[in-house]
Amino acid sequence: MTVAQAPSIDWTAVRADFPVLTREVHGKPLIYFDSANTGQKPAAVIEAVDDFYRHHNANVSRAVHALGSEATEAYEGARAKLARFLNVRVEELVLCSGTTFAINLVAYSWALPRLRPGDAIVLTRMEHHANIVPWQLVAQRTGATIKVAEIDERGQLDLNQLYALLTPEVKLLALTHVSNVLGTVNPVREICREARKRGIATLVDGSQAAPHRPLDIAAIGCDFYAITGHKMSGPTGTGALWARREHLDAMPPFIGGGEMIKEVRFEGTVFADGPRKFEAGTPNIAGFVGLGAAVDYLSALGMAHIDAHEQALLAYANEALSQVPGLRIFGQAQEKAAVISFLVEGAHAHDLATLLDLEGVAIRSGHHCAHPLMQHFGVPATCRASLAFYNTHDEIDAFVAALNKVRKLLA
Ligand code: PLP
Repeated sequence: MTVAQAPSIDWTAVRADFPVLTREVHGKPLIYFDSANTGQKPAAVIEAVDDFYRHHNANVSRAVHALGSEATEAYEGARAKLARFLNVRVEELVLCSGTTFAINLVAYSWALPRLRPGDAIVLTRMEHHANIVPWQLVAQRTGATIKVAEIDERGQLDLNQLYALLTPEVKLLALTHVSNVLGTVNPVREICREARKRGIATLVDGSQAAPHRPLDIAAIGCDFYAITGHKMSGPTGTGALWARREHLDAMPPFIGGGEMIKEVRFEGTVFADGPRKFEAGTPNIAGFVGLGAAVDYLSALGMAHIDAHEQALLAYANEALSQVPGLRIFGQAQEKAAVISFLVEGAHAHDLATLLDLEGVAIRSGHHCAHPLMQHFGVPATCRASLAFYNTHDEIDAFVAALNKVRKLLA
């Protein structure tokens, strides 16, 4: 990962920007280690949403009155901020409810009309269900098949096997940028280059990348890139799909309604150009205002600084967890985000997570919407501690102490 030293950032002050982190749970200070599930929101985001509803609330693109213009400006302003953050053009950025919607949009508008019996889609073993199930639905309806790229013992993609799968019948390779379970950072730039050489389109699920590392979608060279706002300190129900303009122009609308048209007659409808063709209905306006504020917030800290700080936390947590008897970490990729999936010998994941919650520590237990990965490891569930820049070394110490305590209770 990019390593940037940021001695000037006072991470304790940054943490103080997040109101929820001051609360207690079961009488203990909250230690929130579930940011891969959803990220906490800084006051700037909460206030932006509050300010929108208090002072500017109106629908977008419809009214000529002052509030209508302000709402439209704020909503389109958020699109522009997000486009800058991702290094893409605004005309190629579809705003939607999140990654799940973004991937389904590609599945139904791009893949469904295109795929034929005998075609194939390549996925990887480490995909979230959001990047598996839509492709299964498309495969069922088109007669296409799904092929799976496997991982090695460290939880890294076996690139030779992946490239061997990229045969002429493959029309799409859909893969995650960063695994939500293993933390593995996939070399998406290299992989997309290989796919492109073979004429295969690529979709990258950036849900777990956008909140944690500098992103340059233009440099990745994919065809589609999906992000979700709630994991990047923004409100739930916000996200985006970036797609090459030639794809957006060729794709039919996914959902019909207001906002996505130029002219409607009973004889037929002329659709809006570009992203708006895919944005039927009233969007989550306040949510996107909040996401714009989140992008401002992350950009002010600097994604390279966030990345470096989270890498330091990850190294510290790895070292501390290596001292816990019977603890096994799933995923030891060379390039890894601050996501640690683990099990402790003799303890069920849900029991560990429940007892840790009583100590104030919020981790996730379960299959993490990645059944095929659990099947690969032969376990029904793991515990997952996922860190963000607002976490601290002290919290890691407290987490490991709590883990040692509950481990003994379960032994
Ligand atoms: N893809 C990955 C890798 C995820 O971690 C998640 C959320 O957990 C999703 C997709 C689904 O995103 P959304 O919450 O926007 O539906």
